[in-house]
Amino acid sequence: MGQIVLEQVTKSFGEVTVIPPLDLTIKDGEFTVFVGPSGCGKSTLLRLIAGLEDVSSGEIRIDGRPSASIPPAKRGLAMVFQSYALYPHMTVRKNIAFPLRMAGLDRAEQDRRVEQAAAVLNLTDYLDRRPGQLSGGQRQRVAIGRAIVREPAAFLFDEPLSNLDAALRVGMRLEISELHNRLKTTMIYVTHDQVEAMTMADKIVVLRAGHIEQVGSPLELYRAPRNLFVAGFIGSPK
Ligand code: ADP
Ligand code: MG
Repeated sequence: MGQIVLEQVTKSFGEVTVIPPLDLTIKDGEFTVFVGPSGCGKSTLLRLIAGLEDVSSGEIRIDGRPSASIPPAKRGLAMVFQSYALYPHMTVRKNIAFPLRMAGLDRAEQDRRVEQAAAVLNLTDYLDRRPGQLSGGQRQRVAIGRAIVREPAAFLFDEPLSNLDAALRVGMRLEISELHNRLKTTMIYVTHDQVEAMTMADKIVVLRAGHIEQVGSPLELYRAPRNLFVAGFIGSPK
């Protein structure tokens, strides 16, 4: 569970083509980072995979099934938004349980999953607090908890740490990497930050103006950047 294939996927907004035909295979369990400058189409690509936008042409398959045939909520993909997407009036427990309540899971199963996620994320002692009573890092963990409880086939992160301060970002990067080691679930992580890409990824997809410049492991990109754009972006000695 968790293989994502994009085949000749394009996306246009009106007359403007943001994603020209793009092919990409993301293996089950891989931690893939989409990196590239602002405006290159990272969020659009993630939103297409999540089903928050429709492709203009081409096909996305999730574990072999064309995603257009699966309603977004049933695709088994959980998007992690920035922590300010939490509900301020709800407790941590209610925030994390929210997608489960929407899906109509019974109370006992909701509690079981929330407590399991809270244990993984070191939030057990904070379940009765509200987001306003938490630190930035704790709030971000609540946002991740809300994804974990859905037990998704893949996690989709869109610059989840961009509104945290630098010190917190370092810690949260480690926590997300640790979560991946533990769950072994496919993760796609979007960032414009080269350091995040180089330190977190199994595989980096370097994007520029909606197309893929290069795909490879951090070491492959560092040792053999295909062109000056990749070299410049990744900070390779070329
Ligand atoms: P990134 O996440 O890499 O910064 P985006 O995917 O947000 O880039 O945007 C890529 C391009 O698509 C940008 O030029 C942006 O203005 C454009 N774009 C994104 N969403 C829309 C939309 N809903 N309507 C029109 N243009 C859009
Ligand atoms: Mg973006």
